Amino acid sequence: MNISKCAFFTTLLTSQTLAITAIAADDNKLIGTIIGTPKSVDYSTNDSSITINTCADAFDNDLNTFFASFDRSYTWVGLDLGSAHVITKVGWSPRNDVNGEGRVVLGLFEGANQEDFMDAMPLYIITEKGKIGEISHADVQCSKGFRYVRYVGPNDARCNIAEIEFYGHEGEGDESKLYQLTNLPTVTIHTKNGEIPYDKEHDIPSQITIISKDGSQILSEPGGIRERGNASRGFDKKPYRIKFDKKQNVLDAPAKAKKWTLINNYGDKTLMRNLLAFRISQIMGMPYTPYGTAVDVILNGEYKGCYQLCDQIEVNSNRVDITEMKPKDIDGEELTGGYLIEIDAYANQETSWFRSAKGIPVTIKSPDDDEIVAEQHNYIKEKFDQMEKNWQTYLDLNTFLRHFIIGELSGNTDTYWSTYMYKHRSNDIFYTGPVWDFDIAFENDNRTYPINNKTDYIYRSGGSYASDSMKNFVDNIVIYNANAKKQLVDIWDEVRHNGINAEHLTAIVDSLETQLQASQELNFMRWPIMNTKVHQNPETWGSYAAEVDNVRNYLKRRVVWFDNKLKYTYTGIAPIDANNNAPVEVYDLAGRHCGNSLGTLPRGLYVVKQGNETKKIVVK
Ligand code: CA
Repeated sequence: MNISKCAFFTTLLTSQTLAITAIAADDNKLIGTIIGTPKSVDYSTNDSSITINTCADAFDNDLNTFFASFDRSYTWVGLDLGSAHVITKVGWSPRNDVNGEGRVVLGLFEGANQEDFMDAMPLYIITEKGKIGEISHADVQCSKGFRYVRYVGPNDARCNIAEIEFYGHEGEGDESKLYQLTNLPTVTIHTKNGEIPYDKEHDIPSQITIISKDGSQILSEPGGIRERGNASRGFDKKPYRIKFDKKQNVLDAPAKAKKWTLINNYGDKTLMRNLLAFRISQIMGMPYTPYGTAVDVILNGEYKGCYQLCDQIEVNSNRVDITEMKPKDIDGEELTGGYLIEIDAYANQETSWFRSAKGIPVTIKSPDDDEIVAEQHNYIKEKFDQMEKNWQTYLDLNTFLRHFIIGELSGNTDTYWSTYMYKHRSNDIFYTGPVWDFDIAFENDNRTYPINNKTDYIYRSGGSYASDSMKNFVDNIVIYNANAKKQLVDIWDEVRHNGINAEHLTAIVDSLETQLQASQELNFMRWPIMNTKVHQNPETWGSYAAEVDNVRNYLKRRVVWFDNKLKYTYTGIAPIDANNNAPVEVYDLAGRHCGNSLGTLPRGLYVVKQGNETKKIVVK
């Protein structure tokens, strides 16, 4: 404790000096110089004030006086402790009236060693209403010492806090145990001068801190943050793109990269649709599936909700793995790639785009906007036109059809609204992928609900393709081409025996639901929309569990729908070769022999051996 730093207390009247004595008698309760948002509000006039409801009122031991900031959000009050202290406990009391109780919910305590709090880490988040006339306490699980500590009020609360307390002891501490809001990684971002991201073009300089592995792992690096997305940007819970100054390994993502996305999932109340689709993409054997994981996000001390931290779709050896072009690559072999493009309904809002000969709008994602040269632009358009005209030769059907199945299985209206494709150097073939953007998939779009009652493919629904020419392009493959249709059934048959079945998909949903449980509770405190239709929601299901049930039930029926659509019969015995005369031996997963046929077995997973062949089989 550093009494000399306690400038505020030492200059006050006698009654306040007595308060110091009382504080000093408690050897854990910390004192320091009071710091905080300078402008407070005088509620009697609603004008800003520097004398009424000030920061000092949060440290005067009087539960009837409170700090209220003039600005409504991102406002705070705290202490400069003079030297680093490990905080072991915090206390708080809300503004002493009915308005105060709720205004501490999602209030956040932070610690920092930089005066501007750029390096701040969370200490504790309040998740319950405050108790009027009482101080509530919570233990802090953070082994690191901080000189600056503060309480940041939740959104739109004017901070409104009667008392704040910090307990602990002097010391630098260590980073062995940091605080995570939930079991998920916590991503906390602090921007320079507290500036809030406001568009898709300007990065706000930031310190980006990610705490994971139950608080035992930390990444804290400078970078920038901006908004991202199209329709999803229209919601108060904004999607963001973060960009580190230097390439970073983030969590367990395979890529080392500067750019990462924070997907907001505002219209997706299960908070899992993209992650589920990415898992399906992996099962489908796509060459590259974007990395994605659920995280809790804090911006400038304000809790923002449950997000998905995902790859940025870009060229990288662990993302879209094609040759990255340079502006000098303007002829010969070098001009041939690689190119990353997006068939994109919003292409005409982009800098670098073209319309194909038949009218498909295409955004060029790589080479980047600011690097691409005319030769490259002309080349990729010409090659795309060639592919569009003669897809039998220039489209990789394998990735196209797998991507198609993911789109239809998930019932994603956006599959051909936005479709990534890429072209390697020295290769004229266009590959489809990666998959991206599933927030209105899995029965979450009122325009196509209920999906399984429709006999036609979902991509043919009005408004779900980037242009009529794109719909025609897909029709020509999956509706009118016998060879492609046969390949589609072959791929479906393969994946039906490799994870695309109701049991396995249900298990994935179950596991994501468990993983997201604590985070969804916080998220819907911040965004109380569970009973409101937002974005394209067809229904309100009333609870998180019911929202997830909707997805689970949809998927079970969708697999059957797809079987029917392709006139495909899944027997569970299909991989056993009927021409193979070797006897069939069936075992359960514990290795117990269960006989020589699947016909009479109870539901479950079995291992079937026939000659040299071994398969896992689900009996439904
Ligand atoms: Ca007070």
